Amino acid sequence: MTTLSTEQVAHLTTMMDERFARELDEIRAVAARSRDERAQEALTGTLADRADQVLSEIATAADYAIVRQDIEDVRDIVAARRRLASGHYGVCVDCGEAIAYERLLAYPTAKRCITCQREHERRHAV
Ligand SMILES: [Zn+2]
Repeated sequence: MTTLSTEQVAHLTTMMDERFARELDEIRAVAARSRDERAQEALTGTLADRADQVLSEIATAADYAIVRQDIEDVRDIVAARRRLASGHYGVCVDCGEAIAYERLLAYPTAKRCITCQREHERRHAV
């Protein structure tokens, strides 16, 4: 269960919305510069509905190295919004414990508590 208050959730949602808009602008700017009509078309559509699909297409369609991180961030935000909608936001996907508000403030799209994240990174370290 999450222990976040309504106000805390609202604050984190605003943070994510602002970041979402900012990253999307960056992606759009790069798409515009690249003259990739397909990507531009995809980005001017109703992105919120099918963001995952569109972003996958863009990420694989061309060399968008500059915006790859932006795209990752946007996808993380889309996933976090989904967890918000389903009531799973702020809950660690590994252990089911609440993720600390301080951690979410620094990293609003976090899906693991700090303990599980460290363990996850340790296991996946190369
Ligand atoms: Zn955990």
